[in-house]
Amino acid sequence: VPVNDSYDYIVVGAGSAGAAVASRLSEDPDVTVLLLEAGPVNDALEISMPAAFPNLFRTKWDWQYLTTPQAGLAGQRAYWPRMKALGGCSSMNAMIYIRGAQADFDGWERDFGAEGWGYDDVLPYFVRSEHNSRFRGPDHGTDGPLHVEDRRFTHKLSDAWVGSAVASGLAANDEFNGSTQLGAGRYQVTCHRGKRWSTAEAYLSADVQKRPNLTVLTSALTTKVLVEGGRAVGVAYLHAGVAQETRAEAEVVLSGGAVNSPQLLMLSGIGPADHLRELDIDVVADLPGVGGNLHDHPVTPMLWHTRGTTDVAVDHVTPARLIQWQATGRGPLASNVGEAGGFVTTRGGLEGPDIQFIVAPTGFYDNGFREPTDRMFTTGVTLVDVASRGRLRLRSSNPHWRPTMDPAYFAERVDLDATMAGCRQAIEIAHQGPLAKYVDKPHLHQSDTLDDAALAEHIARWTQTLFHPVGTCAMGTGDDAVVDPQLRVRGVEALRVADASVMPRITRGNTNAPSIVIGEKAADLIRGLDSSGRHATTTSTKEAVR
Ligand SMILES: Cc1cc2nc3c(=O)[nH]c(=O)nc-3n(C[C@H](O)[C@H](O)[C@H](O)COP(=O)(O)OP(=O)(O)OC[C@H]3O[C@@H](n4cnc5c(N)ncnc54)[C@H](O)[C@@H]3O)c2cc1C
Repeated sequence: VPVNDSYDYIVVGAGSAGAAVASRLSEDPDVTVLLLEAGPVNDALEISMPAAFPNLFRTKWDWQYLTTPQAGLAGQRAYWPRMKALGGCSSMNAMIYIRGAQADFDGWERDFGAEGWGYDDVLPYFVRSEHNSRFRGPDHGTDGPLHVEDRRFTHKLSDAWVGSAVASGLAANDEFNGSTQLGAGRYQVTCHRGKRWSTAEAYLSADVQKRPNLTVLTSALTTKVLVEGGRAVGVAYLHAGVAQETRAEAEVVLSGGAVNSPQLLMLSGIGPADHLRELDIDVVADLPGVGGNLHDHPVTPMLWHTRGTTDVAVDHVTPARLIQWQATGRGPLASNVGEAGGFVTTRGGLEGPDIQFIVAPTGFYDNGFREPTDRMFTTGVTLVDVASRGRLRLRSSNPHWRPTMDPAYFAERVDLDATMAGCRQAIEIAHQGPLAKYVDKPHLHQSDTLDDAALAEHIARWTQTLFHPVGTCAMGTGDDAVVDPQLRVRGVEALRVADASVMPRITRGNTNAPSIVIGEKAADLIRGLDSSGRHATTTSTKEAVR
């Protein structure tokens, strides 16, 4: 790919948010955009096959991060897979399509001063991005680039769980992105005809990549934002190992995700001054909030052996199933593993759910690294209203070194209490209604009548990430805000961050859809447009520069 000396915009990272930013900006033929992605083109079969997503872990596709030892996980380090390829983590994720509670976005605006990010403000972006196979009406899009569909394979255990959850008192809910998240049902997924639909497919299609004003460069690891006189003027990167520099006439946009965007800011001298000095990095802007506010959704697996039924992983991965999936996009390989679930509140006084259940018709724990030995069923009890906050720091000024990540799982007692209540509810659901006849003995926890101490021990031993780190370049107006509500990095001109790192507080639910919306809205903020395509400000960044 020939690369020019300068572009109007440079976007770093072609993930959930970055692909949307670059695609939307390059709709205007008068601007030029360079999109730099550290990973390769996302062309492996395991990427498009929904059931195969864990096969990408610890491969060349994976950044392979590890947290610091976690006191809340009995001293264990948590493994954090992150995808390194076009589409970013949307090329590796479990494809569950959840927008988050309306209260999440209203809370960003109310509690953090993120003006313009209330639910009514972001809804048009969810609609604009979406191509939903079933839902219509003002809250859903039917001609956006992101395919969202009902899964083409649902195991009977998943539907049995929904039946049991309803028998236990949860409402049946087949629309988690509507007026309420509460209740139990099947998840919709970001797939098209049974195949993964990442943001590479949605926003960087062959047609988009043919635009003469968009250059997509893969295997390009950005190592530094170049800042002159307080203004971002370009980036330094290694392309296939060779050092390069390219200028940005209008803006640089960082979309490297919640681990890499704060890392890149700090490598560029933008972050907590005392920390940067420890590593002999010249301070460009003292921004104490960079890398702070790290938080994530922890998930505790509750597994049971089953009887009288099949298991999606043990029984169904056969050559015939592969042919079926390739030809029709149907069959068990179209399963996204986390097929069904729901949302509950474990105590009063909350604005939205604090626990999300994700159920799988197989035994899924330890990131799927354990070969299934028996037919099993899993309820993943996920804390979605998270009080604990940790932080991310550099270990070195060398861009190849992984940063240290401390999400401080369960540092706040309320997080453990909610997870314990969620685990007890998962046990209760498993023993009633249609699921009861399939459920046999527990696999990881000692018994279904375990006391609080034993349950807390189970949680510490087996809890892992649901893969949703956020918050490390939080937007807002407070002292620790890294970006303002326009996503502009405070104290540096012509530099924005647009990805999951800008969430000041994690959404209740899986984080892909809100990350995409952050990318969609970022493009409009840069272009000076409002959500209806009208000019919200008199000039776009590019016009202002010229
Ligand atoms: C295994 C897994 C399962 C998940 N399941 C779900 C799910 O079912 N539903 C859901 O909604 N969410 C899910 N998520 C979470 C969701 O996918 C992420 O929250 C979302 O993709 C984050 O988007 P992002 O734009 O912030 O970052 P990413 O999508 O991670 O994009 C960052 C991109 O930047 C690139 N990059 C980073 N640093 C550099 C650099 N220095 N130079 C150049 N390029 C760089 C990366 O390679 C990557 O492509 C899952 C995530 C994982 C990992």
